[in-house]
Amino acid sequence: MENPATNEIIASVPCFDESAVEECVHRAKEAFPGWRKETLSKRRGILEAVADRLEKNREELATILVREVGKPLMEARHEVMSAERVFREFSRMDISGISGTLIRNEKNSSIHVIKKPIGVAGLILPWNYPLTVLSWKLAPALLTGNTVLVKPSPYTPLNTIRVGELMDPLLPEGVVNIVPGDDGTGEALLKSQGIGKIAFTGSVETGKNILRSASDSMKRVSLELGGNDPAIVLEDFDMKQLSSVFWSSFRNAGQICIAVKRLYVHEKLFDRFVEKYVTIAKRVKIGNGLSEGVQMGPVNNPEQLAIVEGLVEDAREKGGTIHTGGERIGMEKGVKKGRRIGSGKGGGIGSGKGGGIGSGKGGGKERGERGAGYFYPPTVITDVDESFRIVREEQFGPVIPIIPFTDADEAVERANSLRFGLGASVWTSNKSRGIRIAEELESGMAWVNTHMVVDPKAPFGGVKESGFGRELGQWGIDEYMDIQTIYVNK
Ligand code: NAD
Repeated sequence: MENPATNEIIASVPCFDESAVEECVHRAKEAFPGWRKETLSKRRGILEAVADRLEKNREELATILVREVGKPLMEARHEVMSAERVFREFSRMDISGISGTLIRNEKNSSIHVIKKPIGVAGLILPWNYPLTVLSWKLAPALLTGNTVLVKPSPYTPLNTIRVGELMDPLLPEGVVNIVPGDDGTGEALLKSQGIGKIAFTGSVETGKNILRSASDSMKRVSLELGGNDPAIVLEDFDMKQLSSVFWSSFRNAGQICIAVKRLYVHEKLFDRFVEKYVTIAKRVKIGNGLSEGVQMGPVNNPEQLAIVEGLVEDAREKGGTIHTGGERIGMEKGVKKGRRIGSGKGGGIGSGKGGGIGSGKGGGKERGERGAGYFYPPTVITDVDESFRIVREEQFGPVIPIIPFTDADEAVERANSLRFGLGASVWTSNKSRGIRIAEELESGMAWVNTHMVVDPKAPFGGVKESGFGRELGQWGIDEYMDIQTIYVNK
């Protein structure tokens, strides 16, 4: 495992194979009956205690996130704080219908409906917001009485493993099992007959594979997939908000599922908008997230960097104008790919046990000082449209295409023209017009004069190829429960 800002090897982590996964499934199944029978108030108390532990260890967890994800320390602290908040809010959330809903009650018969935990849930995580995504899945899964296996991304297992250790004293053995590994480890979760639900966050392509594999044993599936969020900037946009629009694309170096990935700007203000936007892009302080004042870290891994470089090159070759950025910082091209995760077996890691994971300190650098890190500058491209890959595909990195439009109907049509449907936003001084347009956008979330705001009580998820199922709030809780209808002949 390497630090994307320095290319130092920071740890070596076991890769769980099928039999190690099955061992954890067995432990989770054994733990399920006891955990499900715990009182709701006990489970609520444990979620609150998890939040306290995260809070107490915020600085350590934030530092781990900087070292394995690459984000600036301030953003990493916010990620830990947002996970704390999610555990706290879920600990107090109603679970509608868990105690039963009476549908009909007559002299000779009655019908009531109950909600039950599914059993063992497999939580599969991406690398960009590993702790946030973990909290969105783990809090409702535990609250509703499921036991879980957590499969972190091979790029960012360390924070998940550490959270597992912190939760260890709070939970009965086998309730939470961390199963680090590569994509094959994820496949083993899909193959296991003992897992009843897969909650996945990751790319659209992997999501489609997961859906296919899950059909064999008819697992319940929720899929939080990639996005290509459009932002529509209308002619009455308040230019004072330009910096908010900018950071909606470039926070976490653009590696956010709900980052703005296409900007549609009204032609009347297009030139002025692009000029000021480029000025902001040129001033961004890039570097190691642990250094003071750094606003943007590296791209997380060489595979993702290659995607970003490929999309920019494609735009350049086809006539796009690159106003700033467009070349990787400080490193000759064609560097060999970094290793994703250590090999080896890995026996029973996970809650209740611990196991010898997360060893490594910093073995030597893979390459010399010069050119260390997967840094790519904020890149702004115009003279492109939906026929360009940089507009059609998800870049998931620090590059944005800006496209002019003539009227709002055209902008909405273009915003809706792609296969994605995660988030979208409208920026205007006319709030009610903004809301009207937001409602026309084909997306799971739509924002007016902001983007990327998320609330633990509001549903989060996509439409179209951005997936289905919802996280957070009541909707997120329902994803971890089966429904049973009970008919009684009195
Ligand atoms: P990815 O799809 O490559 O991997 C995600 C996880 O799935 C990893 O843990 C990986 O090991 C595992 N995996 C890969 N193949 C698998 C298989 N066949 N079976 C089971 N597991 C498998 O995604 P990534 O590169 O880690 O994350 C980036 C993507 O995630 C982007 O597209 C981004 O938009 C998306 N994302 C979506 C959301 C959301 O909430 N919608 C949030 C964050 C990231």
